[in-house]
Amino acid sequence: MLVRHVNIVGKQDLKDILIREDKIQAVYATANGADEKDKLSLSFTHAMAFPGLINSHDHLDFNLFPPLGNKIYRNYTEWGKDIHTANKEAIDRILRIPQDLRTQWGIYKNLINGITTVINHGKYLPVKDDLITVFQNSKSLHSPAFERNWKWKINFPFGKKHPVVIHVGEGTDKNAGREIDRLIRWNLFKRKIVAIHGVAMTKKQASAFRALIWCPASNYFLLNKTAPVHTLTSQVAVMLGTDSTLTASWNFWEHLRLARSEKTLSDESILNMIGNIPAKTWGLEHCGSLSEGGQADLVIASCKKEMKAMDQFYALNPEDLLLVLHKGNIRLFDAVLLEQLVAGDFPVAGFSRISVNGRVKYVEGDLPGLMQNIRKYYPEVQFPVSAS
Ligand SMILES: [Zn+2]
Repeated sequence: MLVRHVNIVGKQDLKDILIREDKIQAVYATANGADEKDKLSLSFTHAMAFPGLINSHDHLDFNLFPPLGNKIYRNYTEWGKDIHTANKEAIDRILRIPQDLRTQWGIYKNLINGITTVINHGKYLPVKDDLITVFQNSKSLHSPAFERNWKWKINFPFGKKHPVVIHVGEGTDKNAGREIDRLIRWNLFKRKIVAIHGVAMTKKQASAFRALIWCPASNYFLLNKTAPVHTLTSQVAVMLGTDSTLTASWNFWEHLRLARSEKTLSDESILNMIGNIPAKTWGLEHCGSLSEGGQADLVIASCKKEMKAMDQFYALNPEDLLLVLHKGNIRLFDAVLLEQLVAGDFPVAGFSRISVNGRVKYVEGDLPGLMQNIRKYYPEVQFPVSAS
């Protein structure tokens, strides 16, 4: 497949990208690529290309929840107790939807945002990597407050090659900071620990962790405060995560804008938090960049030509995505590409039509069927997309 006339985010000049099977075979200046031929060639105008995004934190089976919270909390245990009392009915209704349906929707939520790799947190989910990569090669522990026997589990000798991933320091009170100290102290064998949230984390504490997953949207929703990431990046690798819709918007682009609005990090460093940093941390080195020989996970989006390159990127929303490739396979495309795809004999039969904020997209698989199935269990469920 040949993708033509795209601007790679952060770079000048138009490029063509040649994809063979699941790899990026070549990236070259459009002017030099006139001889390249491919059965399937897609040409763009005013479009940018970037690596398929890596979302380092989600609970895939929790994305049918609406945001649940009744005030600003001091820490996650206060939040947890409150919603399990005040919002018990709403929680029970969602949990009656079979887990595999909830998980499938969680995967689509990520795909529609341009995410091609998601790190799932929680119990192992029996999912296939059909649409995007669902990474589960880590030891998920909930948190010091909600994971029984966590002290024993972080020191448990089996599965040592996988990092422990745990919510910690998700609060603004003294306990949140002490909880991080306790976790560090009990990591007797200096196992690799990836912390989620770390709102209360200090620079000194940060150096004890393999990485920190920053979830600003979720943090502001719960605590009206987020981790001081600009002071931590010199000590620890920081990656960005969405968390589920229980505490944050389904739209990852809003999360990126929120991260940018902190004005403490450069545009490039935020990009790295959804690209090469998580690729390296999770051992997925072939992802997270558009380099020759890398895995063909990439996104093409339409952009407003009057904006500067990075402004164009951060202004995007799911409706602006024109093409999402995962391992060289088209998983999502905008209706504007239909004609070119049909002309290139691309089999569009396995795709379903949906409307994303008024724009028609085609996604692999039967998403309208999945939504209908979910409605059988919960008729009032709200989806951010609709069948088209
Ligand atoms: Zn979480």
